[in-house]
Formats: sequence, structure tokens, C-alpha cells
Amino acid sequence: MTLNSRIPSGPIEKAWEKSKFDFKLVNPANKRKYSVLVVGTGLAGASCAATLGELGYNVKAFCFQDSPRRAHSIAAQGGINAAKNYRNDGDSVYRLFYDTLKGGDFRAREHNVHRLAEVSVNIIDQCVAQGVPFAREYGGTLANRSFGGAQVSRTFYARGQTGQQLLIGAYQALERMVAAGQVKMYSRSEMVELIVVNGRARGIVTRDLITGKLETHMADVVVLATGGYGNVFYLSTNAKGSNVTASWRAHKRGALFGNPCFTQIHPTCIPVSGEYQSKLTLMSESLRNDGRIWVPKSQGDKRNPAEIPETERDYYLERMYPSFGNLSPRDIASRAAKRVCAEGRGVGETALGVYLDFRDAIQRLGEQTIAERYGNLFEIYERITGENPYKVPMRIYPAVHYTMGGLWVDYHLMSTIPGLFVLGEANFSDHGANRLGASALMQGLADGYFIAPYTITNYLGETKLEKVGDDSPEAKAALADAESFTKRLLNTKGKKTVTQLHRELGKVMWEYCGMARNAKGLQGAITKIQGLREEFWQNVNVPGSGSDLNQQLENAGRVADFIELGELMCRDALMREESCGGHFREEHQTEDGEAKRDDEKFSFVAAWEYKGANGTPELHKEPLNFEYVKPAQRSYK
Ligand SMILES: Cc1cc2nc3c(=O)[nH]c(=O)nc-3n(C[C@H](O)[C@H](O)[C@H](O)COP(=O)(O)OP(=O)(O)OC[C@H]3O[C@@H](n4cnc5c(N)ncnc54)[C@H](O)[C@@H]3O)c2cc1C
Repeated sequence: MTLNSRIPSGPIEKAWEKSKFDFKLVNPANKRKYSVLVVGTGLAGASCAATLGELGYNVKAFCFQDSPRRAHSIAAQGGINAAKNYRNDGDSVYRLFYDTLKGGDFRAREHNVHRLAEVSVNIIDQCVAQGVPFAREYGGTLANRSFGGAQVSRTFYARGQTGQQLLIGAYQALERMVAAGQVKMYSRSEMVELIVVNGRARGIVTRDLITGKLETHMADVVVLATGGYGNVFYLSTNAKGSNVTASWRAHKRGALFGNPCFTQIHPTCIPVSGEYQSKLTLMSESLRNDGRIWVPKSQGDKRNPAEIPETERDYYLERMYPSFGNLSPRDIASRAAKRVCAEGRGVGETALGVYLDFRDAIQRLGEQTIAERYGNLFEIYERITGENPYKVPMRIYPAVHYTMGGLWVDYHLMSTIPGLFVLGEANFSDHGANRLGASALMQGLADGYFIAPYTITNYLGETKLEKVGDDSPEAKAALADAESFTKRLLNTKGKKTVTQLHRELGKVMWEYCGMARNAKGLQGAITKIQGLREEFWQNVNVPGSGSDLNQQLENAGRVADFIELGELMCRDALMREESCGGHFREEHQTEDGEAKRDDEKFSFVAAWEYKGANGTPELHKEPLNFEYVKPAQRSYK
């Protein structure tokens, strides 16, 4: 298979404009003859479904929650980037492009990233027009704050609830189209199979999560905007329901999976507190604007933080990375936290924690200002830990947060299955080996509002699609596969719960494919996960039936997919004999412990092809060419 990324020719700053002009159009009267299925109605999916509806296509949209309002996007706290340069502090489209490529450790495609930076400015206008209540300065202009990996302030925010406010905007746009009859919304519906006819994506099979009924939906285009797969680690900051099922089932039908091992570990999360915990909580990166990160200088110092004098504190990020300090990118800040804890200087009961301290900011700005900026985050922290962060420093530690990997897509956001488009966190594009803070919301909305509507129209304009009904052999086969998968889960009747098996997978992933990886560990992890897969199918216990609401059954299907994905992630991490971004191979580090890339051998996107349950996945490589930004060793010193 040859990967064609369909990067347009000509100067990068004109590439998207030129593409839009070159794209085929579909005239308004013909648009209503086409149908599109949008799976996922978080920020990427809701914005796409609403926009396609506005354009006049017939859209069906699906989500597994009871409302699009509950998509994981609602959890996004800190903000959304855009190169508006409202602060007049030196920002530009080119700088956002540069920061994103560098932040991703030069493992992303230049043209996609440039386009993202270009359309970032439109997103803010669109959302303001929808009434998203972004924070404003006293004079009424939109406010900005800083996020990691950038020396300019380009992050727009709505207190610590930016995702929620953006989602309300996208949801309103979606509901407008639902009311207009352009979008039909299917909530509590989970996509369980992709239907591919004559090599093109032409439909999906869904399971109604209330009645258990399996249904086929046919269309001209299928869009997946189904979010990230961080829950493969069991403990993560993702919503508990976030999963890989839609992407994984599409992968098994022929969509290649890009850079599966590129996972983001976020430095500022509330530390794990016990074995039976099922979820981790993020403390937004925005807190690093004013909070200072430190540990005691001496090992095993168990004193109350207030008793540790200034001279005995190590503000290690400020010391190690003076230019970016507490706003060093996430991968770098996470590894630094791991290192100081490994030196025996971690804080809290488990000693796997560092302080995030607002004492100086409160002295400088007053408690009132800090409360205005971060009040709800402080409240979340206090409710979970019982400690008041206005009085004592927060304790934080890195946790799994975001997945840069995902289904491989070309410049048009189309996967290797024609007619299957993948948006938002579900695709692999744009963030390389490490995503900068506040860039996921930007990417999801760029994909949904401003990119996919053009590229999908182009696909429909240039493709002759025959009529395919749900009585086609492919549709029937996919439905039968979905039926037998559910039966198999229910009939195994083993002894272990789905959660037990998931937790075991998570431990292996965190230990061997987490913040640091090495060849021996990864080889062992692959064997362990293969064993776990076997055990799953012999020993899983899924109570209840398939004909009504059964969350154990839903979860079982998702965990079965996570186990297979986990193996692929370890294979990918083992193959990539270099360190880049969030992928840190212990064998490949500089003398001072920084990631050491190998551009000669590994400047490519790894795109994996599924080769059957017992086959070995095949690696395809998309070479990355850097014409505009020359890869250099990333330095934030
Ligand atoms: C705690 C937290 C805070 C964050 N804060 C920020 C931030 O401040 N700034 C930023 O840029 N990024 C942030 N991120 C990242 C960002 O929130 C996500 O990357 C982004 O919201 C993903 O949006 P999405 O539309 O791609 O997917 P999601 O919002 O995850 O939506 C997925 C959708 O797919 C549906 N779905 C999934 N599988 C199926 C299926 N099989 N069948 C049917 N439907 C399905 C779901 O129902 C849902 O509607 C944060 C992430 C976390 C975890």
C-alpha cells in the first residue's frame, strides 16, 4: 500500500486557499441528494455535523451518551489557541505553525499544521458569533493567557470551562440543524462496525444502548469524530466512557492506524491515591501561568511545605528551563517531575507528587484575582483532596491525558478507506509526538467547522457513488459480525470482571509504555498483553443480557478493543528506536536526560495495517519532509 498524503504543491501559505479553489463543489440542489453519517458529537463531530447540515446535506449524527452535551470535550478546562495576536506580543500564523511543529518534536506534517494555524483565527470569530463567553479584559476585548511551549499569550478561555462553553456553542448549532430537519440525532447509539462496499466506507452498524437493538445505517460518507483512546491505560484524565471502538473497528476494516504509541502524559494531575481509583483528574495547565512548581532540595523531606524555607526549595523547571520555566511543554515537564520523584524528592504520602504553589501569586495579585482566574479549578482540587489550595500548595503528578496517535488521514482528513473521514482527537494529524496545551480544541473545531466540510464536498463532487442498500452482502455481513461479537462476550461466562481485566491492561501499559519505555520492557509487555487477550476471551464475565441497558456489555466490547490496541501501541513504541516528544525510549537520551531524536531513520509517520487477529500488523511509512522549519534539537532552556 502506498500512502498518498495529498499535500498540495506550491507555497505553504497559499496551499489551503489554493486547495479550496481547486476542490470540486456540489451545487445546492444536489447537496440534498447526499447523506453523511457523523459518528461522535463532541467538538469535532458536532461542529462538522452542524456545518454539513447548514450546507444542505442530509446528516445522521451519533453519540453514545444521552446527549451531545456530555461528550468528553466538555471537560476541557484551560483554553483554545489562536494566532490572533491581540496581545501584540509577536504572535502570527507562522509562529503558531512553528511552535506546534516544534512542540510536536518534528513528527507532524508541515502542511496540516500550517493550515491549522491559519484557520485558528476563524474559530474564535465563529465562536464569539455563537455567543461563547470568552474571558474579556476590562475594556471588553478578548483576554488571553499563556500555555506551555509558547512565549506568547494566545490562549482564549472561559474560566476553567472552555470546553463546556465551546461545546454549548457547537451543540446549539447542531440543535438548530436538528430542528431544521437537516440532522437526525441518534444518542445512546454506539457504532460497532464500519460497512465497506467496493473499497469505500458506505455505512455503519450501531447498537442502541437502551434496547440492545443492532441497526444498519447507509450513506455516501462516514465521518468518525470519536475522540481519543487514553483510557487504554485504565487510569487517565479522560471521561470514563472515552474509548477506541469506532476507530479500532474501522482499523480492522482497512483504515491504517497512525503513530499509536504517541501518548501525552500531562504534568499537572491530582496524584493517584489508591488501588481502587477509577479516574484521574486534571489540574489545567493554565494554572502554570501563576503557580510555581517545586520540590524540597533534600531527599525524603517530609516537613509541611510552609516550613520549608525558600533556600531549601528547588523550583526545578525554572532552574532547568529558564526561558520557558513553569510553562515548559508537557512532555518535558512530566519527565522532569518523574526524575525529581525518582531522586527521592517527591512529596505527599506516596512520594509521587510535586508542589504547584500559588503563594507568590496570591501575594502579588491577591486571592480575589486568583479566584477569578482559577476559582473552579481550586474548588475541584479542594473537593477531591480536602486541602485548600489558597492555603497549601497543590500536589500534582503526571497522568495520561491525550493521544496524538489515531487513524491515519491525508491532507483531506480522509483515512486509507475512501469515504471515511476522521476528525479531532480520533485522527493522528497535526500534533506530532507531543501536543501543545490548548491545541486540541483548536484542532477539533478547525477540522469540524472549516476543513472537513470542504474536503467532504470535494469527495462527493469528484466521486461517482452507486446506490447501496442495507441489504447489500457487506452490510449484512457487518451486522452478523456485530451480532456474533455481542453473543461471544455474553456467552464466555468466565470469572473476571471487565474492570479487573482493564485494570491489568492499564498497569502493563503504564509500566512499560508510559512515561519511559525500553526495548526489553516493551517486548515483555507485548507477550503479557497477548496473554491478557487470551484470558479475556476465556475468562471474562459479562452479566445481564444483550437486549436492554447493559453497561458491563458496552464496557466489555471497549476493553476487548483496548487490549488489541495496547499491543499495537507497544509494537509501535518498540519499532521507534528514538525518543521524540511524549515517546521517551530510555536507550535514546542526551547526557542531560532529554529526548534524542533520530531524524535520519525515524522522520516518518508510522501507519499500521491490520493483518487479522493472529497476524502481525504491517508497518507503512509516510516520510515527513521539512521544507519550512528545519528540525533542530528542541530546547526550552
Ligand atoms: C480533563 C481534560 C481537559 C482538557 N483541556 C483541554 C484544553 O483546555 N484545551 C484543549 O485544547 N484541549 C483540552 N483537552 C483535550 C480535548 O478536550 C480533547 O482532545 C477534545 O475535546 C476531543 O474532542 P473530540 O470532538 O475529538 O472528541 P470527544 O469530545 O471525546 O467526543 C467523542 C464523541 O464520540 C462519541 N463516540 C465515541 N465512540 C463512539 C462510538 N463507538 N459510537 C458512537 N459515538 C461514539 C462520543 O459519544 C462523543 O460524542 C482536555 C482533555 C482532558 C481530558
